[in-house]
Amino acid sequence: MGLTFENVAGIAPNAEFECRSGWRDLIEKAAGEMADYPDDWRVVIAGGKEKMGGLVLSVSYVGRWPVEPVEYFIEDWRKASLAVCEECGSAGRLRLGVVAATRCEDHADFVAPFRDEDGEILDLPPTGGPVWKDGRKASYSPCG
Ligand SMILES: [Zn+2]
Repeated sequence: MGLTFENVAGIAPNAEFECRSGWRDLIEKAAGEMADYPDDWRVVIAGGKEKMGGLVLSVSYVGRWPVEPVEYFIEDWRKASLAVCEECGSAGRLRLGVVAATRCEDHADFVAPFRDEDGEILDLPPTGGPVWKDGRKASYSPCG
């Protein structure tokens, strides 16, 4: 079940978010930032989904396409989501097990059994990752 929002500035009326409700506040904060962008950008959050444990927002626009600010916006909020439990909104971290998911201690079992990399990999960004706690660079396949 996706999340929807009614009458939130910065979020398109028909936007759907394929993630758990713990990220509701996070999405509303992102929408607040988006609503503060210059009017002539006419950008709006069109939706979002959980991907590799992080929230990936999609942004649509009508006016000029402010490529870089929007890319930063999406990446900033994806990173922010890696500290918020997708289930309940409490402080969490990326956990690696049968899936990659950001969960607090109470909701960590969702991911169990855990992989050896759990707690060692901090982020699985769409490009340039994974990010290891000790700075090491190595490939990682969450499905392998
Ligand atoms: Zn939780």
